[in-house]
Amino acid sequence: MRLGPRRVRTRLTLWYVGTLAVILAVYLAGVSLLLLWQMDRVLKRLAAEDLETVKGLLYFEPGGQVGVREDYHHHSDWKQVQERLLEVLAPDGSILYRNERLGNRTLGGPLFAGEGERGYSGRTATLSDGTSVILISRKYELEGKSVLLRAGYQQDLIWNQLKGTLLVLIVASPLVFAGTAYAGYKMVGRTLDPVTAMANRAEQINSERLNDRLPVESAGDELGHLATVFNSMLSRIEQSFEQLRRFTADASHELRTPLAAIRSVGEVRLQNGATPEEYRDTIGSMLEEVNRLTSIVEKLLTLSRADAGQIQLHVSVFPLKALVGEAASLLEVLIEDKQLTFQLTGDENIGVEADRLYVRQAVVNILHNAVKFTPAGGTIDARIVCRGPSQAELSIRDTGPGIAAPHATKIFDRFYRVDESRTGTEVGGGLGLSISKWAVEANNGEIGVSSSSGGGATFWIRLPAVGCRPYGGRG
Ligand code: ADP
Repeated sequence: MRLGPRRVRTRLTLWYVGTLAVILAVYLAGVSLLLLWQMDRVLKRLAAEDLETVKGLLYFEPGGQVGVREDYHHHSDWKQVQERLLEVLAPDGSILYRNERLGNRTLGGPLFAGEGERGYSGRTATLSDGTSVILISRKYELEGKSVLLRAGYQQDLIWNQLKGTLLVLIVASPLVFAGTAYAGYKMVGRTLDPVTAMANRAEQINSERLNDRLPVESAGDELGHLATVFNSMLSRIEQSFEQLRRFTADASHELRTPLAAIRSVGEVRLQNGATPEEYRDTIGSMLEEVNRLTSIVEKLLTLSRADAGQIQLHVSVFPLKALVGEAASLLEVLIEDKQLTFQLTGDENIGVEADRLYVRQAVVNILHNAVKFTPAGGTIDARIVCRGPSQAELSIRDTGPGIAAPHATKIFDRFYRVDESRTGTEVGGGLGLSISKWAVEANNGEIGVSSSSGGGATFWIRLPAVGCRPYGGRG
C-alpha cells in the first residue's frame, strides 16, 4: 500500500483533531465535575445561612403550630428565603410549618436518627412530585422546644446552570474543531511540502540521471537532514556506478586485446601455411596470450569476489620475513634472467597477524612489478621493520623508473597503468596493485608508495604485528 503525502496529511490532521477532541472531552468532564462540586458546596452554605435566617423569624402559634413573624414578611431576607423549600418538624416528626413554595409536599420524609443534632445535616432527596433537592437540616431550640428546620434547594437550578455552560461549550466545539482541523491540515501540508518535492525529484532519478540530487530546503531540520543523507547516498551510488561502468569497459578492453591477438596470429598462420616449426611458434605465442587472458580473468574473479564480500579470510600469525623470502623464490627465475640483485633484511621473528595467502599475493604482485620495471642489473631491496609495538612494515625498493607524484595515488586503481610504452617491459593488466591494496586493507593494514620520478619506487605494506619491539629497536 502506497502512503502518499496526502494520506499522511489526512491522517496527521485526524490524529491532531482526535487528540484535541479527547483533551477537550476530558477537560469538559473535569470542568463539569468541578462546577457541580462547587455549586453543591455553595448551595449547602447558602442553605445553612437561610436556616439561620429562618430560625430567627419563627415563633409558636397558640395552636402549637409554627409561624413566621408578620413584620418580616416584606423584609428582603424573607423574600429570598421564600424562594427555598422550607419545613419545620417537631422531634416526633409531626409537621409544624411548610412554606408556600413547598405546599403540601414532604421535604425529606420522617426524621432519621441524629438528623441536624451535631451541626448541619446535608443530603439529596427527592420530593413526592419527583423534584430533586439538596437538603440541609438542623435542630434548634425555639421558645424552649426542640424543632428541626429543613431547607431545600432544587437541584434543577444547578443542572440548568451546568447545562447552560456545557451547551455553550458544546456548541462552540464544532467551530473549534473545524478551525483546528483547517489549521492542522494547512500546517501538516506545509511541513510535508519538502517531502513531496523530494519524492517528485526522486521519481525522476534513474541510472542515466544519477547526478541529480534531492532539494534541501533547510539543512538544519529533520527533513533537510533526510535529503542530505539521501543525497550523499546518491553520490555513493553514482560513484559505484561510475566505477562499475569503467571497470566493465576496461575489463572488456583488456580481454579483447589478447583475444584479437590470438585470432590474428592464428588467421595469418592459417592463410600463409607454414612448417611444423612455425606452427609450433604460433601455437606458443597463442598460448602466451591465453596465459595472459587466464591471469586477467583470475584477477577479475578475485576482485569481484572481494567486492561481493565472498572471500573468507583465514587469519594466523606468521613470520613476515619468511613469507617475503617465499614470494621472492617464486620470481627467482625472472630475477636471475634480468641479473637483478635481491636483498632481504629485517628480524625474522617479526610476526604479522593476517591471512597468509592473500598477504603473499600482495607481496608477489609488488615484487613482480619491481622485477618488471627494474632495468637489468638493478637492485631490489626488501626491508622489514617495526613501526611501534603493534605494526610491522615491509618496504620494497627498486631501482626502476619510479612513479611520478600524480600517478602515485592512482596506480592502486583498477586497470590504471602509468605508461605502457615507457619501460618496454611486459605489460600487465593493471590489476595487480588493486588486488594488493584489497588484500592488505582486508587484513587491517595499509599500503602505499613513495617515489620520485627517476629515483626508483618504494612500495610499503604495514600490517598488524605481534611481539614487535618499539620502532628503532630493529634494523
Ligand atoms: P600491472 O599489472 O600493469 O603491473 P599494477 O596494478 O600491478 O598493474 O600496476 C599498475 C601500474 O603501476 C603499472 O602499470 C605501472 O605503470 C605502475 N607501477 C607499478 N609498480 C611499479 C614499479 N615498481 N615501478 C614503476 N612503476 C610501477
